[in-house]
Amino acid sequence: MSKPALLVVDDDAQVLAAVRRDLRSKYRESYTVISAISGEEALATIRELKARGDSLAIVISDQRMPGLQGTDVLAQSREIYPLARRVLLTAYSDIDAAVRGINVAHLDHYLSKPWAPPEECLFPVIDDLLDSWQAEYLPEAHGLRLVGHQWSPRSHAIKDFLAGNLIPYRWLDVTRSAETRNLLEAAGIGASDLPALFLEDGSVLTNPGPRQVAERLGRSLSAAHELYDLVIVGAGPTGLAAAVYGASEGLKTLLLDRHAPGGQAGSSSRIENYLGFPAGVSGSDLTRRAVTQAQRLGAELLVPLEVTAVSINEGYKHLTLNDGRHIVARTLLAATGMEYREHPAPGVAALTGAGIYYGAATTEAPAFRDRSVVVVGGGNSAGQGAMHLARYAKEVQIVVRRDSIGGTMSQYLIDQIQKTPNIRLRARTELERVEGNEHVERVAFKSDTGQTEVEDVDAVFVFIGTKPRSDWLPAGVLRDAKGFVITGRDLSADERYARVWKELREPMALETSAPGVFAAGDIRAGAMNRVASAVGEGSMVVRFVHEYLALT
Ligand SMILES: Cc1cc2nc3c(=O)[nH]c(=O)nc-3n(C[C@H](O)[C@H](O)[C@H](O)COP(=O)(O)OP(=O)(O)OC[C@H]3O[C@@H](n4cnc5c(N)ncnc54)[C@H](O)[C@@H]3O)c2cc1C
Repeated sequence: MSKPALLVVDDDAQVLAAVRRDLRSKYRESYTVISAISGEEALATIRELKARGDSLAIVISDQRMPGLQGTDVLAQSREIYPLARRVLLTAYSDIDAAVRGINVAHLDHYLSKPWAPPEECLFPVIDDLLDSWQAEYLPEAHGLRLVGHQWSPRSHAIKDFLAGNLIPYRWLDVTRSAETRNLLEAAGIGASDLPALFLEDGSVLTNPGPRQVAERLGRSLSAAHELYDLVIVGAGPTGLAAAVYGASEGLKTLLLDRHAPGGQAGSSSRIENYLGFPAGVSGSDLTRRAVTQAQRLGAELLVPLEVTAVSINEGYKHLTLNDGRHIVARTLLAATGMEYREHPAPGVAALTGAGIYYGAATTEAPAFRDRSVVVVGGGNSAGQGAMHLARYAKEVQIVVRRDSIGGTMSQYLIDQIQKTPNIRLRARTELERVEGNEHVERVAFKSDTGQTEVEDVDAVFVFIGTKPRSDWLPAGVLRDAKGFVITGRDLSADERYARVWKELREPMALETSAPGVFAAGDIRAGAMNRVASAVGEGSMVVRFVHEYLALT
């Protein structure tokens, strides 16, 4: 197999030669550096690469060129190589074009000319982009292959687990290719054994659950120590930030998640407002960075493990796991965030995983190429989901009860949605019911005038009604009427406080009504529901953990 390509595009032959030379000096062993003198030539080269079955890792294009501009080249290259990283080369005077290009061409980065010295200005950026590309990209002939039915909830659960845990795999829908059927026949696997996961060593797991997959892929599910200074339950942005700070400050830190690291943010196709990522960052990329950082600093991560109960004895927190094992901690951070509520419309529960998906737009979007899908909800997560689905689906309908998405969605997403021709907004409408034999085939929409309309659709992505995941916490941890955990000063305003809190000191910020049990991020009453605030709280909490440990 040939090496993946790095493509440079510039109409100035001198600049082109200089970038090519710099890139070759560092990357020639693992990548082929190729160049084009115009946008048109670049697109022709990209099509040739595709036809040959070669991989393209990065396109770096100058903005100002006669004919096609850099942003056009990058936007069109994305249609052919969606995973290739896109970098715009600009002069300082062109930064505005680059910023506009972030939305149009979904740039991953822009570089200002000149980029000397390359060790400081060019290579760190390219290294970072190649790292993230490598994490997502899967060469044709290798890797895990998951074979199953698109409409099987068990297939969806494994896809969701693999994608959430950033494990590259290839999805093969058994109804769509004769080659896949041959593969099953050769391995002697029948329809009742699906889904089947083919591993690189040629072995196969039939109808596995996420835990079995994790163990087979060599992921440890056993804690290394008997007692931890800090156990963090939930590896969303809050838990990951706490793990980074806890481990870096010398605490014996364990992080657990029932599903995959990343939490809600991990399912986001593009987070545009997190500090330090001017071109936005995908949830999976942010998660990959955070997990690497936490583990490098010494935090232990166990996934998938669910905490089902906690008891407190002499200040020690005893956590019960879903497999019956126990873990003991001196302090505990509840960072289990929120989850979507089940949509109450008839038909939804029966078809969940078979065309009804909660949040999972990034995992399932490619399966709905050229099909019609519905997004229910008007928040930012629904907007991001709709934008991501619109890259594949023929039509995306956003259904909201209100008369617009103005009050509930950020303006940048509203602007993007308005410019996307295959997204349609159905305001003042509810999903009345879902119908289908084994999978979603039709939905009935009901408008606020009482009129019902039935339409053929292939999938419904639900992004409404979130509820906190706090039912695993002990009764001594006070929650509000909706189940959000009350922390810090807010506790003293609660009538139950005096009965529960028996310490001579006040609860610390982010401490719950159980001493040494902290809560941060979306699970907390009054949380901001943002990645940045979750990361902020997760980082802060470690300071209070130190203070608590010093008292005991
Ligand atoms: C699709 C989408 C897009 C978003 N986009 C943005 C954005 O662009 N910008 C922004 O600022 N915010 C965005 N948000 C909001 C942001 O993602 C959340 O505010 C943030 O993820 C909250 O982090 P958290 O760690 O507190 O909780 P979560 O992210 O909810 O993570 C909680 C984790 O706990 C785990 N867990 C739950 N129960 C248990 C248990 N009993 N045992 C073990 N593990 C458990 C879950 O599996 C999960 O991984 C988005 C949210 C969604 C859903």
